[in-house]
Amino acid sequence: MSKIVIVGGGVVGLFTAWYIRKKGADITVIDRGDLTDSCSFGNAGLIVPSHIIPLASPGMLRKGLQTLFNPVSPVSVHLSPDLDLIRWYLRFARAASARHVKKSIPVLKELSLFSKNLFAEVKESGQLDFPLWHKGLLMLYQSPKIGDELMEEAEIARHSGLEVSTLSAAEVHQLEFDAKPDVSGGVHYKSDDHLDPSMLMKSLIDTLERSGVTLIRNCAVKKINTSRQKAINLETEKGIFDFDQLVITAGFWSKEILNQLKINLYVQPGKGYSFKVKTAQPIHYPALLADASVAVTPLGCEITQFGGGMELGSKGMKIIQARVSQIIQSIGKFYPSETGLQIAQGQIWQGHRPCSFDGLPYIGHIPFFHNVLVGTGHSMMGVTLAPATGKLLSELISGEKPGLDLTPFRIDR
Ligand SMILES: Cc1cc2nc3c(=O)[nH]c(=O)nc-3n(C[C@H](O)[C@H](O)[C@H](O)COP(=O)(O)OP(=O)(O)OC[C@H]3O[C@@H](n4cnc5c(N)ncnc54)[C@H](O)[C@@H]3O)c2cc1C
Repeated sequence: MSKIVIVGGGVVGLFTAWYIRKKGADITVIDRGDLTDSCSFGNAGLIVPSHIIPLASPGMLRKGLQTLFNPVSPVSVHLSPDLDLIRWYLRFARAASARHVKKSIPVLKELSLFSKNLFAEVKESGQLDFPLWHKGLLMLYQSPKIGDELMEEAEIARHSGLEVSTLSAAEVHQLEFDAKPDVSGGVHYKSDDHLDPSMLMKSLIDTLERSGVTLIRNCAVKKINTSRQKAINLETEKGIFDFDQLVITAGFWSKEILNQLKINLYVQPGKGYSFKVKTAQPIHYPALLADASVAVTPLGCEITQFGGGMELGSKGMKIIQARVSQIIQSIGKFYPSETGLQIAQGQIWQGHRPCSFDGLPYIGHIPFFHNVLVGTGHSMMGVTLAPATGKLLSELISGEKPGLDLTPFRIDR
């Protein structure tokens, strides 16, 4: 039986294990944490085929430059003399062209719809137990300038075949009674779903362990040993692990692991925050508050999770309170009943999105070492794209032709 080791038990690593296990391999997932709190746990849980415009776009480049020196704007670049960050930013700036956006839209759409269908399939099979809601996603805005940008994006999405409706303020209020009096309008992406990310992760972990996948916790991978064009084993805090094939799905840390093999991934962390509250009024629909880039995820039982912030290049765990306050203020502006939320420091979760320079994930074999594969760089869409990534990697591992063309996701681009 073929032996597969996966480094990184976030949602991408676990879905990779999920699809490989069906092929009868001996699978070990190694994680340096205890599998209770990676970026895959506290994210907004939005399954977003609507996000067809990659992060590397002229609009985002403009926003990044405008906010470069403002550490509390929704998107900011961490200022540090970090050569990797500078290289990433130069590549990002080069990639952020209208041509790249045009080329990426069908690619992202196909990958995310494929993944959304896999979520539906897994859920229907009853093998994983997590709530999955089909309510679409509301994009709400207040400033006319943001409204214009959203309408333009909605038109692009509609043109590419997604089901999208534009809503007046009155129509927004009909769907979300408390979203008043400020909200001037919105867009409803009916293509999107949402789920509870921590319940998804718990269910994946339980089910994989029950099905015989070995999960090794609190075990950092230190070194990859190689012989000629093959990786042969891993040195870790808990000894040596041999394998036939190695998969690196360690979020933004995949970069430093693969540096050992002289592979340069252009991935930077994009730190964000979230917190859960019992709201004063029920919130029914998941939403993105576009002016402030805040995600709103109703999780049932009157609990809603709010999240936001994108600090590019920020690797540390320091919470920037001003940014959390900015999230809280924007919640009050869009949902007046929730004005002045009191959030204790201990309630704030943080996670590091693995952001690739061009907004597309890395999926596939690495150059030169033919038994090493990677799945990372999913940026703001790691949950959305995890089943598709896992399935495609499992096909490569078992020598099948992958279900989608992987050229846009190749490692050496
Ligand atoms: C605020 C916020 C909101 C978000 N909302 C959404 C959303 O609504 N929808 C969506 O699709 N995505 C969303 N995302 C993005 C999504 O959470 C990430 O893209 C996704 O979780 C990345 O998963 P991953 O498995 O690649 O990495 P991770 O979850 O980071 O997992 C990587 C794992 O690798 C392990 N690791 C690292 N180094 C080593 C080592 N040396 N040895 C062993 N193990 C190692 C880590 O411990 C970790 O468990 C959001 C992110 C944030 C921060």
